[in-house]
Amino acid sequence: MHDTLSLLNNREFPPINREEVKTVQINLGYRCNQACFHCHVNASPDRKEQMSIDTIRQVIQFIDKVKPAVVDLTGGAPELNPHFRELVSEIRDRGIAVIDRCNLTILFEHGQEDLHKFLAQHQVIVTASLPCYTEDNVNSQRGDGVFKKSINGLRLLNEVGYGHSNPDLQLHLVYNPLGAFLPPPQETLEIEYKEYLAKTYGVQFDVLLTITNMPIKRFGSTLVSRGEFENYMQLLKDNYSEENLNSVMCKTLISIDWEGYLFDCDFNQMLGLPFGNLRRKTHIRDLNTNQIEGKSIAVRDHCFGCTAGRGSSCSGALQ
Ligand code: SF4
Ligand code: SF4
Repeated sequence: MHDTLSLLNNREFPPINREEVKTVQINLGYRCNQACFHCHVNASPDRKEQMSIDTIRQVIQFIDKVKPAVVDLTGGAPELNPHFRELVSEIRDRGIAVIDRCNLTILFEHGQEDLHKFLAQHQVIVTASLPCYTEDNVNSQRGDGVFKKSINGLRLLNEVGYGHSNPDLQLHLVYNPLGAFLPPPQETLEIEYKEYLAKTYGVQFDVLLTITNMPIKRFGSTLVSRGEFENYMQLLKDNYSEENLNSVMCKTLISIDWEGYLFDCDFNQMLGLPFGNLRRKTHIRDLNTNQIEGKSIAVRDHCFGCTAGRGSSCSGALQ
């Protein structure tokens, strides 16, 4: 047993290949009204990168070729891109589901006063970060005052119909650990979140997604500065679950950065690892979409963050 475990602990992440694309994830830019300490994008109000309207038009052409079931909009705060609403409308007009990775506080930014109504009108799935249901924990990870604003954001979304088990107005919350540990079981935590948030703040949501923190970018740097990086990597490797390998999200998701380059997932995008394990980055305008399925995926040690324990993806736990 000990020998097997040592072998596993030293292992490299197994090679994996793509299947049919079901989700196109688009990073609309790295600008955000927050600067959370766990952010794997290093997003902040000072970032200038934003997807241009020309690239958005190319993205729409790409979507028309790939025909995914879901388009997942992320950032930074994706809503800060000036073309966000145009893009959402275009995709929804095609009958494709849209996810907005919303940080909730954005609903109170200048120019976003009617955002909750826009999202409801277009039946966008709102996936919102709330790493804990207690004020101190959320503020310590996401910044002073973020918890109260987030609760008020949830209230606005509840008012327009989100979070009441309506399949057309789905509100998902995202939990990620506050430190260098794995998330607890998703189902148990969802019950706790629902009871506490309803009783204490009168807010409701549909589903809780638990996500493992990736040891890259701002969270990775924090681990390094605290001397916890090696232990965290070991924790991820020690908890490797073969069962999760078949359902890691990159098998059916493709990620596009703000300039229109392709990656196997948002984490690889942040690490600059080109799509398909290629040496150079591929732009959406140059990709033959018939050649996506079966392509090799660029895997590295951070991928153990997707397979540890119950597994992790942008849609929560894998098991
Ligand atoms: S984690 Fe989300 S809300 Fe926080 S800085 Fe990053 S993109 Fe913004
Ligand atoms: S980090 Fe990205 S490439 Fe690696 S397993 Fe997870 S989703 Fe796939």
